[in-house]
Amino acid sequence: MTTNISSAGGLPDIRVGIGHDTHRLEIQRNLILGGIAFDHARGLAGHSDADIVLHAVTDAILGAAGLGDIGDWFPDGDPANFGAESTKFLAVALEQAGKLGWRPGNLDVIIFAQEPKLGPGKLAIRDNLARLLCLESDRVNVKAKTGERVGHIGRAEAMSCQAVVLLVRG
Ligand code: MG
Repeated sequence: MTTNISSAGGLPDIRVGIGHDTHRLEIQRNLILGGIAFDHARGLAGHSDADIVLHAVTDAILGAAGLGDIGDWFPDGDPANFGAESTKFLAVALEQAGKLGWRPGNLDVIIFAQEPKLGPGKLAIRDNLARLLCLESDRVNVKAKTGERVGHIGRAEAMSCQAVVLLVRG
């Protein structure tokens, strides 16, 4: 096995990026997490489908590639993004990072949600993220935390997501 070494500093040619997102929970919205639809009384509010997982992952990829953030690429005031599926945002981030020679190496995600209990849904999200990033499932991990019934997460007013991605050259 060989390791690519960058020309500067002799470091492995890898980049790490972090993403974070929060959306409010409202009635009459669908709950979409990581591209998976969940049956729940409320969903996340937003200009697009408000998928906090895909938004955080998109931002992590853009960050690792030095490409700014999701708002730079997809302004929420742009009518073209109204009701958009967030898989579109992720695909563009992957494409742009790929143009710079980067591809995902692994992904770790934390979803902060008081309800619903995600349970087996975590694995469905993981498998879908792995598919979208063209990674083996064991290179993607999805964790879930409640808000311990305090704060905006704990009162189930909102959900958040954090993502960390590693990009490798090639
Ligand atoms: Mg968002």
